[in-house]
Amino acid sequence: GRYTKEDIFRMVEEEDVEFIRLQFSDIFGMTKNVAVTVSQLERALNNEYVFDPSAIHGFEEIGEEIYLKPDLNSFEIYPWRPQTGKVARMFCDLIDENGNPFVGDSRRVLRNVLTEAADMGYTFDIRPELEFFLFHTDEEGRPTTITHEDAGYYDVAPLDLAENVRRDIILTLEDMNFQILGSHHEISPAQHEIDFVEDRADRVADAVMTFKMAVKTIAKKHGLYATFLPKPTEGVNGSGMHVNVFCRDCLGKNLFRNDEDEILSELGRQFVAGLIEHSRAITLLTNPIVNSYKRLIPGFDAPTDVIWSDNLSDRSAVINVPHRSGDSTRIEYRSPDGVCNPYLAFAVIIAAGLDGIKRGLNAPEMGETTGSNRHLPETLGEAMEAYEQDPLIREVLGDYIFTRYRDEKMQEWKEFRSVVTNWELERYLGRC
Ligand code: GLU
Ligand code: MG
Ligand code: MG
Repeated sequence: GRYTKEDIFRMVEEEDVEFIRLQFSDIFGMTKNVAVTVSQLERALNNEYVFDPSAIHGFEEIGEEIYLKPDLNSFEIYPWRPQTGKVARMFCDLIDENGNPFVGDSRRVLRNVLTEAADMGYTFDIRPELEFFLFHTDEEGRPTTITHEDAGYYDVAPLDLAENVRRDIILTLEDMNFQILGSHHEISPAQHEIDFVEDRADRVADAVMTFKMAVKTIAKKHGLYATFLPKPTEGVNGSGMHVNVFCRDCLGKNLFRNDEDEILSELGRQFVAGLIEHSRAITLLTNPIVNSYKRLIPGFDAPTDVIWSDNLSDRSAVINVPHRSGDSTRIEYRSPDGVCNPYLAFAVIIAAGLDGIKRGLNAPEMGETTGSNRHLPETLGEAMEAYEQDPLIREVLGDYIFTRYRDEKMQEWKEFRSVVTNWELERYLGRC
């Protein structure tokens, strides 16, 4: 481990930390936390901090207390909070009073998959590519979809502002030990992307949670609203979170690499095969909201087809494998968006590939699919059907999360179906 209990006490003392946030994710990927003061740190580090889950969305029916078990290695100071009386955080595992894992802990779900992989001799690293928009807020501070760059058309200052926001975001992330691979303005107005280097999947899932919080916080400091909503604006590209998966053995050897003329190793092809087989079923987790499916349409660089390709310009493919990447050979899974719960999304992506490896599946030809349906689900409702039909999903998530997540999404879809949209009124009312 990176830190011991003593290290935590020392850092808290040396850095003048006043509050320690005990942080975890609900099953829908929302960050939750409780702050404790230094006087309660001992208790917290002994896993004695207890809370009543009934007020946490998704945990309502649990009916027993949950204990927070801080992951010492995740100790980090929030650079955007006051620099005297600082605020630090630790991610926590959720356990019951006997120390057993809590069924609703999505961080645990991911770790279980990684443990299974490790038993087979594999380590999975992930490099996410997170896209987001920076929008203006209105007079009341509420988010809009108006871009600074539209405003920039009339006024020069806001353009500079966005550059400074991105700079500020990156410096903040580096303060928190992120290694930033690169950042750039994305295709749509006001759209940005920041990539960080690959690391073990569970640490990266934590990092995604931190990343989103940091981006939103820094944007707000600059008077802007940062959103990971997949498709905030019609007619321009939406925002995804492409997931690059690397597989290595315990010595760090890249197991997807193939130095002959094939682009992927046999193992890599089996992983692709598994991912293709389960792609439709895992979409409810990688693309969790009604709006996610507004992004997954042709013409906007987002994937629509359950196929793989080695051609980077083939944007319809859900899987892309860049050519001759040597030690950075990887499989890029392109459907996920930044709204997903990264713990669950990474868990099912890796489990799907692992299933292909376990069963020694053959990857279809590039551009081909295995099942009868080569398209990603087009709606949340369609994604839900695929989710329910694939036994792998329940196996990975466990009964509790599987059911609770499904019920939530069912409700969401039902609500959406009952809404009469402006589009319908504009299209039909005058003619019908
Ligand atoms: N924004 C695109 C998407 O929705 C991806 C563009 C890119 O390839 O970076 O996935
Ligand atoms: Mg991009
Ligand atoms: Mg990409």
